[in-house]
Amino acid sequence: MISGIILERFIMINYRNVVIKIGSALLSNDNHDVEHFIKNICKQIANAKSKGTKFTIVTSGAISKGQEMLQVQNRPNELEELQALAAIGQQSLMRMYEGEFANHACLTAQILLTHDDMNNPNRFLNAKATITRIISQGVIPIINENDVVATEEIRLGDNDTLAAMVSNLVEADLMIILTNQKGYYDKNPDKFNNAKLIKRCNIKELQDFDISLDDKSKLGTGGFKTKLNAVKMTTSEHTTSIIASGYDTNVVDKILNKKVIGTIFFI
Ligand code: GLU
Repeated sequence: MISGIILERFIMINYRNVVIKIGSALLSNDNHDVEHFIKNICKQIANAKSKGTKFTIVTSGAISKGQEMLQVQNRPNELEELQALAAIGQQSLMRMYEGEFANHACLTAQILLTHDDMNNPNRFLNAKATITRIISQGVIPIINENDVVATEEIRLGDNDTLAAMVSNLVEADLMIILTNQKGYYDKNPDKFNNAKLIKRCNIKELQDFDISLDDKSKLGTGGFKTKLNAVKMTTSEHTTSIIASGYDTNVVDKILNKKVIGTIFFI
């Protein structure tokens, strides 16, 4: 059961500036009906946006789209091959979001960033100014790593760290990491039947948990380690982080309507 104070705080805060990270596993037809997922998620975002919530999306899935297009069944190991697949798949990925948001009269903007951009003060400020302007024009920024020139997320994190950096950049009050698990478990739920979903987590306690490093999905590189690091980078007195399942229908509606799902992280 979630503790009273945390639940109260979660219920009280009216989240207005939300970053949603969508992982590769949710964007591949290998696992589920991507069309259905995208339709649902875009509808929920557009609906909340029409009521005044600002959204920024950090998406993976360029490589898995590229794989689908070139019928490459298994994710290659070679970095250049992954970078090429990302460049091939990125347009199709964006077309998918653009087309679906257009059904709700929402415009989107493609933004490709690297960790170096975020760590360089001038480029960080440039990105911040541009993204702020895009949001103020009512357009939804959709961000991926610029995989042609950088490999951090391809090698390490399926955009989890990028999502944290972007949350800090836009000063999000809520970061939602959508993944193919229901949230953060005390053990790897794919391996242990008795794994328990942790519904709330003080990030100060994170180092005490046994984080399984081998739970990475076949499609992206991020496991729970990078997700938890992202949560640690982002969660503050002003920012709540939630890891939840993208398979849960209406996941965004549920979170914004204060239904407790997934794992909520507080400081
Ligand atoms: N930027 C990558 C993509 O869009 C995410 C990282 C990965 O899947 O490894 O596919």
